[in-house]
Amino acid sequence: MSPAHATFAHVRTWVFDLDNTLYPASVDLFGQIRPRMRDWLMQRFGIDAAAAAAMRQDYWNRYGTTLAGLVAEHRIDPLEFLAYSHDIDFSGLTPDPALARTIAGLPGRRVVFTNGDSAYAARVLAARGLGDTFDMVYGAEHAGFASKPTPDAFARVFAREGLVPDASAMFEDDARNLVVPHGLGLRTVLVGSEEPAPQIDDHTDDLTGFLAPHTRHEPSA
Ligand SMILES: [Mg+2]
Repeated sequence: MSPAHATFAHVRTWVFDLDNTLYPASVDLFGQIRPRMRDWLMQRFGIDAAAAAAMRQDYWNRYGTTLAGLVAEHRIDPLEFLAYSHDIDFSGLTPDPALARTIAGLPGRRVVFTNGDSAYAARVLAARGLGDTFDMVYGAEHAGFASKPTPDAFARVFAREGLVPDASAMFEDDARNLVVPHGLGLRTVLVGSEEPAPQIDDHTDDLTGFLAPHTRHEPSA
């Protein structure tokens, strides 16, 4: 890393994961999504809950997400699976004006890259008061239904964005999803629980506080 990259002055594209990055992990939307994925698998394949859980774990390990495993190994409609899985209660999410103001103040492009679909992302962002904060929201459909952390997913989305890796930074709560970006030359920031690993340049459990010094203007209180 060059000395200039020790700060974020070189960053022109700010890439954010969605789940557990742009809202607190304690909201635990996955606590609702997980059983819906399980139920979908049970119905689709006529299997019991234990077999569905094993299937999800296997796909998570080998493909990055349940979705990516389903797309790789079965003829399914990915958007139908995602719509069913993400048909949840969003009332646990509350607007975060300080985060919205801070992200809006970052110099350059601000984008979201989620393994969910962009319709789901839009609902989460709206509930957080972040609906107008980003230049672009990339979902699973923009990654050809490949998922982070696989190189394919990053290659497709970063190509669409025209992203310049060494002028970009990525913020993620899942350390697995920072391996490829780090290898490409993005500045990588783990959001949430500390988890030291070579692909993590920085760590924060306070995204707003971490970003504030890098905005064009200090956000007003
Ligand atoms: Mg996440």
